[in-house]
Amino acid sequence: MEKSSEQSIEALRHTSAHVLAQAVKRLYPETKLCIGPATQDGFYYDFYRSEPFTPQDLEKITKEMEKIVKQDLPVERLEYDKKAASEILKDEPFKREIFNEIEGDTISFYRQGEFIDMCAGPHVKSTGLVKNFKLLNVSSAYWRGDEKRQSLQRIYGVCFPEERQLEEYLRNLEEAKKRDHRIIGPALGLFSIHPEFGPGLVYWHPKGAMIRKIIEDFWRQAHLERGYNLLYTPHIADISLWEKSGHLSFYRENMFPPMNLEQTSYQLKPMNCPFHILVYQTTLHSYKEFPLRWAELGTVYRYEKDGVLHGVLRVRGFTQDDAHIFCRPDQIEEEGMHSLDFVTYFLSSFGFEQYEIYLSTRPDRFVGSIENWERATKALEKALVKKSLSYQIDPGEGVFYGPKIDIKIKDCLQRTWQCSTIQVDFNIPERFGLKYVNQENKFEQPIMIHRAIMGSLERFFGILIEHYGWLQSR
Ligand SMILES: [Zn+2]
Ligand SMILES: [Zn+2]
Repeated sequence: MEKSSEQSIEALRHTSAHVLAQAVKRLYPETKLCIGPATQDGFYYDFYRSEPFTPQDLEKITKEMEKIVKQDLPVERLEYDKKAASEILKDEPFKREIFNEIEGDTISFYRQGEFIDMCAGPHVKSTGLVKNFKLLNVSSAYWRGDEKRQSLQRIYGVCFPEERQLEEYLRNLEEAKKRDHRIIGPALGLFSIHPEFGPGLVYWHPKGAMIRKIIEDFWRQAHLERGYNLLYTPHIADISLWEKSGHLSFYRENMFPPMNLEQTSYQLKPMNCPFHILVYQTTLHSYKEFPLRWAELGTVYRYEKDGVLHGVLRVRGFTQDDAHIFCRPDQIEEEGMHSLDFVTYFLSSFGFEQYEIYLSTRPDRFVGSIENWERATKALEKALVKKSLSYQIDPGEGVFYGPKIDIKIKDCLQRTWQCSTIQVDFNIPERFGLKYVNQENKFEQPIMIHRAIMGSLERFFGILIEHYGWLQSR
């Protein structure tokens, strides 16, 4: 899509959010306004109100929105000085909080009819352009994403430039409901989850386990054919390992609490990387052995909030198809190409041929030298170019420890799913003091690349169920 049309769709969706807010204010004037951005397919607006919005309320709001569209109110940009702006916002405590943080002397507002909202824009010219919209649901959200602050009600909607696009979206939504793996999975006897004995933990039943075995066999074979070795490592380790790896300081909130035993504490693993490093450190390595490609179907445990758990797609225990590649700095490009080849071979074997690829570059907070970052980012980019894969740059979205390539697959309903990742890491080799002997017989630090193709077996299984809609084909 061209940039300008993308921008105008965003303006259309954001204007839909204002139309929603206007309708809510007309029907429930006591409601306080928070924020209302455009999203990937539509928009939402966060409201503060003591009464919950019911499905009947959404119908009423929809009717009111239709009226506002019909009225075809011009959308006008206005600029006020701080004093006048403060007066307009006197009954909107949430907007005021944002207002108090804005620097500069003038504040922009947008007005349509009687409704006015502090906003930077952009918007379409009139409410009459918001034709093809639908409100989907209400969920809760915290003001500024902070659970210690007020609980808000977020009304979600979608909006499209063309009627047929809205129809297609709604058709896909219906189709997705029919394909919900949380219904199909247990109905076909593939898996179950027993929240009363631990939410987010997956039990694979005989039929599901057989499918998993077939996937695992294919996975192992494909790895052996591509010069990987396989590892098996424990599920827990003394907590000092996680101190050394840094996980205790930067990943703690995603970890299960430690278990105390004798004089020490053990930690359930949220990642496999430190274990592979311990294996690496058992012998001296030479540049001649590189690249070392080690893979493991490693089961990890991560603490996810109850509210975000979703069938087998978002869980607390899962098996990653993890791999770590140890190589020389000059091998990043080659290993990037090798991994990209593998990823596309593997995913297309399951029928996924459409990808969205992102190259994420250096964030504000990072470790390692800028030089190394640039070299590694260029190497990954070259690998993408040489493999003729189209990609987008995600500026500043790299992990703090290095640049990465993320590959999302598109399913038959045009939904995208993040699966594969190829991440260069400057941090963990440094923390563990990893070494290899280079060509000049001197010690040097190897590059470590984290790589996953499916992401996790559980998640990939859920995607497969929804993509193929297994229940329907019977
Ligand atoms: Zn706005
Ligand atoms: Zn890793």
